[in-house]
Amino acid sequence: MNQSAKVYLVGTGPGDPDLLTVKALRLLQNADVVIYDRLISEAILDLIPSGTSQIYVGKKSGNHTFPQDDINQLLVNLAESKRTIVRLKGGDPFVFGRGSEEALVLARHGIEFEIIPGITAASACSAYAGIPLTHRGLSSGVQIVTGHSQSGHALNLDWKTLADNNKTIVIYMGLENIDMICNKLVEAGLDKTTPAAAIQNGTTARQQRVLSTLSVLAADTRNAMLQAPVIFVIGKVVSLANILDWFATDQAIGEYFSDKALSNYG
Ligand code: SAH
Repeated sequence: MNQSAKVYLVGTGPGDPDLLTVKALRLLQNADVVIYDRLISEAILDLIPSGTSQIYVGKKSGNHTFPQDDINQLLVNLAESKRTIVRLKGGDPFVFGRGSEEALVLARHGIEFEIIPGITAASACSAYAGIPLTHRGLSSGVQIVTGHSQSGHALNLDWKTLADNNKTIVIYMGLENIDMICNKLVEAGLDKTTPAAAIQNGTTARQQRVLSTLSVLAADTRNAMLQAPVIFVIGKVVSLANILDWFATDQAIGEYFSDKALSNYG
């Protein structure tokens, strides 16, 4: 192994290149090789100097074109010949990013690594959609969950704990299961009229925001033909989205935001 090799697992945030950390940008500019997948936006890839080698290991949920084991092995192999190996991760490497799986493999092989946190989709997409994750009087906490079940397994979330009227729920990778998730939350006692949002391509020029309520969120998401990546935010905080909509590329098709509903919270 090349003793001076180091692998940087770099969070890039969800799309807007201005959300890169200074450290992430510095590493991108000094990398010998950059490994990335489909969650990394074009605008961020454009920041890689033209002479730097780039390896695409794109994969889709449920359709792994490049198995995780192969990516792990690739990082190990690259450490033989390269010094500064930059593995880009959408959002934050340690939030549904498998950064820790890759780091474990590197640790086992005695390869040096660093984790560079990025702004996770929950933070960035909600901010760009005008939805605070917490707000005095509306939400005293956040529950972040995956809506994706491992193939062959049912999605097994703690519905009772999730169905907390005073907390915000953020669902990553929930597009396929959103009908079932909303039904389960209603069954577990969350009010059908709870404000809810779907955000597609958050923080980018292609961001779309669907504002809805729990009982019709799945239908509204389908009608708007949203496609991955989509993040869902459920909770009273979503009621502030129209007032705080500073990014303004929205498509509000929900029924919730009558003037009356807004004035209750404004
Ligand atoms: N490590 C990433 C999450 C990877 S899992 C992070 O910290 O953000 C992939 C899921 O993240 C997607 O299915 C979607 O739910 C969410 N996501 C990532 N980028 C997004 C974006 N720009 N807009 C909406 N959702 C996004």
